[in-house]
Amino acid sequence: MNCKSCNKSFLLLSREYKCCMCNSIICSNCVSKIKRESPLYDKAYEIFSPLSIVNFQNTSKWNGSLFFCPTCRARFQQEYQMLLECENNLDNVRIFSINYKGKIPKSTLGGRIVKTNFYKNRCDAEYDLKLITKYLGGTSIINVKYNKDTDSRQTDSGGEYYYTIWQAEGEVIL
Ligand SMILES: [Zn+2]
Ligand SMILES: [Zn+2]
Repeated sequence: MNCKSCNKSFLLLSREYKCCMCNSIICSNCVSKIKRESPLYDKAYEIFSPLSIVNFQNTSKWNGSLFFCPTCRARFQQEYQMLLECENNLDNVRIFSINYKGKIPKSTLGGRIVKTNFYKNRCDAEYDLKLITKYLGGTSIINVKYNKDTDSRQTDSGGEYYYTIWQAEGEVIL
């Protein structure tokens, strides 16, 4: 078998890696190991992943390093850079609640329904909503509502602690 990237054949006992995006088998010279540095990495990973759309709903608990082939590594880095730029430009994203009675923006390009991940803090859900809007190239998001759910965790004393988690949902005006 040969490395998908440099095409050299794998020698006996040489280490093989599998790209987490395209599943190519690559050699140790070609592999890039990316360590999770910020939650934005999870989001870039999710956008890029073929299974997902930009809802940030499957944001993985990314532990340790992920392996990328050179092509996927470059594309991942691109997504990450783009998100980083969006993150620095969130101020002009306008949010309109579902209860808002005034004039709301419309677009001939239509809208796109998006949902965020569930967060303990409602502000985090709102933040993601803005980030997705910006990423999709929109400036406004309408019909925004927050969905509630309950999560729990074990306390040190062996009991269970319940708390509310929040998801933001809305329609990005493109
Ligand atoms: Zn190689
Ligand atoms: Zn790949």
